[in-house]
Amino acid sequence: MQIGIYPGSFDPVTNGHLDIIKRASSLCDKLIIAVARNQDKRSLFAAEERVSMLIESCCGDIKNVEVVHFNGLLADYCIKRDVSFIIRGLRAIADYEYEYAIALMNKRLAPGVESLFLMASAEYLFISSRIVKEVAVYNGDISSLVPECIIPRLMKRLRSEQ
Ligand code: ADP
Repeated sequence: MQIGIYPGSFDPVTNGHLDIIKRASSLCDKLIIAVARNQDKRSLFAAEERVSMLIESCCGDIKNVEVVHFNGLLADYCIKRDVSFIIRGLRAIADYEYEYAIALMNKRLAPGVESLFLMASAEYLFISSRIVKEVAVYNGDISSLVPECIIPRLMKRLRSEQ
């Protein structure tokens, strides 16, 4: 059984992430979507909330996904879960430099696990969780940027932060 893992912060999940999830899920028997808990950037949503938003956004349509949150090194988690490959999405050149460094490190830590990169689809190339939050905080239209169920949760959280 080929198990893929798609790690990220997903703070919150966007249509760009969903596009990668749909495409990646067809490449493996099981796709683990792994929400990183211990990123150095401060998250708007707790890991458990990011997990539940991902479940709501994709688990109805896509049958072979499992959403988890994890602590510690991704490479260790991959070995523990018998993962064959790590999926990452590539948008800009800036993504490439960062992703290459991470992929080389993961290869050192878990030599049996490959990193696979999916190019962002043209319509989602410009979407990031950070940009979505920046638009939403000023009440801009985010309806084409995130799954519908995310909008009320995001607006509520941003209002409570102000
Ligand atoms: P963000 O940069 O939106 O905060 P994450 O840290 O959650 O994203 O990223 C998880 C993975 O998803 C990374 O590999 C990132 O490059 C990829 N990704 C994020 N947004 C997109 C998008 N719009 N299209 C393709 N891949 C994306």
